[in-house]
Amino acid sequence: MTTDHGYPAVRMHIAGRWCQGETERTAPVVNPATEEVIGEVPLATRADLDRALDAAAGGFEAWRATPVTERTRILHAAADLIGERAARIGRIATLEQGKPLRESTGEARRTAGTLRWHADDARRAYGRIIPTDPGTILTVRREPIGPVAAFVPWNFPVGGPNRKISSALAAGCSLVIKASEETPAAAMELVSCYADAGLPPGVLNLVFGEPAEVSEQLINSPVTRLVAFTGSVPVGKLLAARAGQAMKPSLMELGGHAPVVVCADADPVRAARSAARAKWANAGQVCTSPSRFLVHESIVEEFTAEFVRAAEAVTVGDGLDESTGMGPLANERRLKTMERLTADAVARGASVQTGGEPVDRPGYFFAPTVLTDVPADAELMSEEPFGPLAPIVAFGDLDEALDTANGLPYGLAAYGFTDSAATAETLSDRLQAGILSINHCGGSVHEAPSGGVKDSGYGREGGPEALDAYLVTKRVSHQLVP
Ligand code: NAD
Repeated sequence: MTTDHGYPAVRMHIAGRWCQGETERTAPVVNPATEEVIGEVPLATRADLDRALDAAAGGFEAWRATPVTERTRILHAAADLIGERAARIGRIATLEQGKPLRESTGEARRTAGTLRWHADDARRAYGRIIPTDPGTILTVRREPIGPVAAFVPWNFPVGGPNRKISSALAAGCSLVIKASEETPAAAMELVSCYADAGLPPGVLNLVFGEPAEVSEQLINSPVTRLVAFTGSVPVGKLLAARAGQAMKPSLMELGGHAPVVVCADADPVRAARSAARAKWANAGQVCTSPSRFLVHESIVEEFTAEFVRAAEAVTVGDGLDESTGMGPLANERRLKTMERLTADAVARGASVQTGGEPVDRPGYFFAPTVLTDVPADAELMSEEPFGPLAPIVAFGDLDEALDTANGLPYGLAAYGFTDSAATAETLSDRLQAGILSINHCGGSVHEAPSGGVKDSGYGREGGPEALDAYLVTKRVSHQLVP
């Protein structure tokens, strides 16, 4: 069933069935490009969540007992379906989240690739045999940790849920995942691909609800063995503390405030173009989005001029329109935050070089914005904008720039631009971040791990490390009976 907008009726997926749940409560789903309500998302009751947990407990026993070759086959079949349905999934994601179709369809296609990577890695979750006394076999085995409670936000409506789902399933775990109530249908379409590929009932359960109620019940349930969260630092700390109280490990992918250090010997035009492309992607609503531009004073003018040119060349509009380069922000909260951060920076002496205000049309649109002379005490320099704001600050001395870059409690992504191999090594060594890119601002790849240091969280997604959180290590020493 779909609405006039081509938006599907939102359902939860519990114990292998699509359902409304017992709930009478729903929340509206809003198209951020038009502010129209395009659907209603059901909010789970305690009983709905109990059913999902029971299903995950049973699903775990079934899935861990499924031969790994069969698990891999099902995961590859799901990846095929995601690839085949990418255009449909992308359109739904754009309707509810706003990003341009090119980005949302690309996200769906990349999601299929991520899943294939994890599907193959399921077959490499090796243990080891340790040399020991004759008559004893000493082994280390890696086993799935158990049912996972996962919580994911709205900025990557397809790729976000899939990072948790594909790693957990590859490791042999089951899940109850709460996707964002703001982008529920893209998650639903994703889960459909797994269900249609033959995943046994109960292995993957999708719920929506009041976030605080759902997380409390799922984390405290004895069924849950791991808590996996992507989202803001404050919520991450809350959930990690709750998981700790229940003595459960957690995987925390939290926010950052990524510095871009552009050194005196870098090409300012090339650096500005690369950073600007990354800045406007997903309207800046990416945890690794470059967000503080520290540029050597000798090239800051050229860098700023090119960045402003790039900002003014962006076509802002409805993501469904093929010509759109940047869509709206995902919700009104973000729009208000852009207004607040810009007003605060200007009040403290920053200059707006371009943008600086909402776009005059319905929807949550904010113009690509470049600010200069932003003082260190502006909120924008310590609060992650998670939107299309680019503060540019000149520096004279690289040590000072590195101190500024490392001066926040976050450490997710960082970027450096330099022509010198020695300076590149200094940046690699000294920038405090889990993800560092030199001379480019490219995105994540399936083969390599992503994650943060400091307040940006712990644990890694992507690469062989992705399975670590979902596996436990068991030592088995077996003395042969003489
Ligand atoms: P928020 O802190 O209200 O929510 C972030 C996410 O956490 C949402 O998906 C929300 O549903 C969920 N959440 C909130 N309270 C929860 C609870 N008690 N239990 C379980 N889940 C809960 O922020 P927001 O307004 O949605 O997003 C803004 C901020 O979040 C941004 O500034 C950014 O720092 C951060 N964020 C980070 C990422 C990321 O990829 N790391 C993604 C989205 C948002």
